[in-house]
Amino acid sequence: PAAVRDRLRIAIQKSGRLGEPSRALLASCGLDFRESRDRLFCYGETLPIDLLLVRDDDIPGLLADGVCDLGIVGRNVLAEQAAGRAAEALPEVARELRTLGFGGCRLDIAVPDGWDWSGPAQLTGRRIATSYPHLVRQWLEGQGIAADVVLLSGSVEIAPRLGQADVICDLVSSGATLAANQLRPVLTLLQSEAVLAGPVRAFTDARAELMALLLRRMDGVLRLRD
Ligand code: ATP
Ligand code: ZN
Repeated sequence: PAAVRDRLRIAIQKSGRLGEPSRALLASCGLDFRESRDRLFCYGETLPIDLLLVRDDDIPGLLADGVCDLGIVGRNVLAEQAAGRAAEALPEVARELRTLGFGGCRLDIAVPDGWDWSGPAQLTGRRIATSYPHLVRQWLEGQGIAADVVLLSGSVEIAPRLGQADVICDLVSSGATLAANQLRPVLTLLQSEAVLAGPVRAFTDARAELMALLLRRMDGVLRLRD
């Protein structure tokens, strides 16, 4: 049985692209915090809603383990967890509750500039470097294409030049990084932005009301931003 809790805990990115906009959004919702000295935990002062400041990649796992109740994370990160769980026939543990309108980017396949792109079938037998192995495998399977996925945790865009892979699948916003590495985006696997991620099943303790309150306020803030 799940533990009964009377405070809501939200995981957000500690720094990086989503850290500041996430905190700004929560502040706009009327939340304020006292930060712990190690800058890992923020205690909610006016409402019993606390923050955990973490690496974005850790957020889906924290939700899955029930360490946090909500998270602000890129759809790309959440979808990678979902694809990984689906591949192992595990149930979904988190879902998108709201789209937040910042952190926009695409998960794109990019090929060397010199390639004459004719479509996904061209990837057959090729090596695809990515930090999103489950999403890429799921997509390849859907397309009926057999290709090798090379897992890299960073600097994916230099893999073709290093001979580690033929093409890449990576996050793109302006495309400048791709261009600088003589790569060209040819198709989009996922349109991403920051989302509020939460439980698949509703809370049955005090967190239910706190979550409803937060969602009401967030909807008000997001409507004004449109
Ligand atoms: P952390 O230290 O938390 O692991 P990180 O380096 O993995 O940080 P960021 O680069 O800050 O993460 O990206 C966080 C999220 O921002 C991404 O998962 C994605 O949803 C979004 N994002 C928007 N534009 C881009 C982009 N051009 N490149 C990478 N991520 C982007
Ligand atoms: Zn990360």
